[in-house]
Amino acid sequence: MGKRFEGKTALITGGNSGIGLATAKLFKDEGANVAISGRDQKTLDEAVRVIGKGTLAIKSDVSKLADIDLMFAQVAAKFGKIDALFANAGIAKFSPASESTEQMFDETFDINVKGMYFTLQKAIPYLNDNAGIVLNSSVVNSRGTSGASVYAATKAAVRSLARTFAAELVDRGIRVNVVSPGPINTPIFGKTGLPQAAMDEFANQIKTAVPMKRFGTSEEVGYAALFLASGEASYITGVDLNVDGGMGQI
Ligand code: NAD
Repeated sequence: MGKRFEGKTALITGGNSGIGLATAKLFKDEGANVAISGRDQKTLDEAVRVIGKGTLAIKSDVSKLADIDLMFAQVAAKFGKIDALFANAGIAKFSPASESTEQMFDETFDINVKGMYFTLQKAIPYLNDNAGIVLNSSVVNSRGTSGASVYAATKAAVRSLARTFAAELVDRGIRVNVVSPGPINTPIFGKTGLPQAAMDEFANQIKTAVPMKRFGTSEEVGYAALFLASGEASYITGVDLNVDGGMGQI
């Protein structure tokens, strides 16, 4: 079997860390021209070294519309139109609802929802017909998880966006699907806003809630994203695929 993305172009937002970085590498291994975006130039540069030669790294903040415009213009200038979009950039901040702040609420919605929405909207003219779009949500989009009130609400919004964009783009053969990871071992857990001891306890609690009793790897999510973006998923649109060791289903 040939490589699934030979001669095709894939854009991964937040491709400089964790799930996005692993997925970018998988797209590259499948022959794609790979573009990644992120906010931090240093990790973008490191990511290019990991992913491989020819990777386009774009400093772009998804919560800023002008940055999104710039991102798509740069991808178009280097590679032309896009065949696979993994809208992955996101943050996770946790706190009991009684302690959530307006600042945390706004920051999380600005990146996870507004950033996702305008990434999808602004992608439309840059996509080839029959492109595959995959959104990164979370298993918490349909579970009540203590401490995750803001984050879970943003991820439920992401799940909803996939349905509407799938409906609006179906006539161009463009499919829009979701991956919903369970707990995945990535740098995100160092950025939650919780103190280390509380985070360790949280991580242990999460692990016991996963039927497979372990965290997943970024590659395990990447393979699902790759499949949904590829022609192998040509009759699949609007779905939410859990990659979560069974957490969302059993
Ligand atoms: P990570 O922190 O390693 O990666 C997050 C990526 O998003 C980084 O590349 C970062 O640069 C990028 N990003 C964040 N804010 C951005 C902004 N404003 N503009 C541009 N890029 C921005 O974490 P990860 O675990 O790989 O997270 C990736 C996605 O997976 C997130 O959407 C997260 O919510 C989701 N997710 C993660 C888990 C998990 O357990 N790790 C579970 C479910 C869902």
